[in-house]
Amino acid sequence: MISVEEALAHVLTHFHPLEPERVPLLDSLDRVLTEDIVSDMNVPPFNNSAMDGYAVIAADIMHASDENPVTLRVIGEVAAGYIAISPVERGSTIRIMTGAPLPLGADTVVRFEDTSEGRESGATGRKCVEIMKGIRRGDNVRMAGEDIRVDEVVFVKGTVVREGEIGVMASLGKKYVSVHRRPRVAILATGDELVEIDEPVTPGKIRNSNGYSNAAAVLKAGGVPVQLGIARDNIGDLTAKIHEGLDADVDLFITSAGVSVGDYDIVKDVLNAEGEVRFWQVRMKPGKPLAFGVLRGKKQVPLLGLPGNPVSAMISFDVFARPAILKMLGRTEFARPTVRAVLQGDVKNNSQRRNIIRVVVEKRDGGFIARSTGAQGSGILTSIARANGFLIVPEDVSLVRAGETVEVQMLHSEL
Ligand code: AMP
Ligand code: MG
Repeated sequence: MISVEEALAHVLTHFHPLEPERVPLLDSLDRVLTEDIVSDMNVPPFNNSAMDGYAVIAADIMHASDENPVTLRVIGEVAAGYIAISPVERGSTIRIMTGAPLPLGADTVVRFEDTSEGRESGATGRKCVEIMKGIRRGDNVRMAGEDIRVDEVVFVKGTVVREGEIGVMASLGKKYVSVHRRPRVAILATGDELVEIDEPVTPGKIRNSNGYSNAAAVLKAGGVPVQLGIARDNIGDLTAKIHEGLDADVDLFITSAGVSVGDYDIVKDVLNAEGEVRFWQVRMKPGKPLAFGVLRGKKQVPLLGLPGNPVSAMISFDVFARPAILKMLGRTEFARPTVRAVLQGDVKNNSQRRNIIRVVVEKRDGGFIARSTGAQGSGILTSIARANGFLIVPEDVSLVRAGETVEVQMLHSEL
């Protein structure tokens, strides 16, 4: 048996970030930039008001207060999107809205709340206003370039694009950006017992759930699933399906079932005829049997042969396929976020393998608690569906006691 680390390290040597493609800005979400993003402008582009209020010259109102208000002549108004016609001169002011360019001459904005307009109800359209608070020069003004300077490198190549980056790049006019291409991932279920989702479950048959859970996991990781359906346990059918996948120009080939000891050797024989594939016993539970190698198509395509049991397939995907997909997307961090939680109920591990326990994490008393989802058999698919975290019990730990604080890998972006 080999360790999870050894297996993963070997798998990952076969994957590299895919070539760049230029995509509409929104399509870059959660992907990795292959170019530096340089600003050709200041953001904001001009000095503007951060408040609804009055644009003033600070020297005029420095000593204003409730007791000693300063009266200014209102010479105009400017809304966001417009330019004030006349400059502000000593003793005068222009009514200004948030986002409107600061009029020439003005250096400060007094918010309505600190003027007679804000202190009286319904007071508008007057010729004069009283300033009732002395503020500092530059207050309530957003300076040109205070967020981004012209020629600044805003994001370097390798940055993961999130909502915030999308907003910044939109403000810079980047309608298209370059990111690593998404990997195409072939998904093939194997087994004579399998029927498709819309077929009747006749005696001895079960539905192909792996095809769906794996495709969902590919999507979630940022890949493009290429669903090949079911290959029967015979050389002809399996070989044909593998060629079909290779013809679909995939970057990773995922099969499920047929890699454990008790199987018909057909899957192993075919994989070996179509490439170089090795069969491993990985020191993890579930997911001990695993195949890995390369298929010979127009190009060499790495293949991950997951176990057939639905839970084993999903967890093996998470451990091996997910990092491989992320690496092809240009990501360098593969670890899931973790929380520390107090374990409810003992968790045993007599397998001497790394045991991946499906748990529910909940908030409790300002912290978190975690409990097993119950039966952890590799066929109990609801044990994953009901879980929001994985508790990793190391191979040399046989018991984790209730009350211990454990680290849990979180599966979703929210609790
Ligand atoms: P195997 O790896 O072929 O020994 O299969 C292990 C178990 O997983 C068996 O009970 C299979 O029926 C089941 N199985 C295999 N493929 C799938 C699949 N695509 N969807 C659901 N269960 C499967
Ligand atoms: Mg089988």
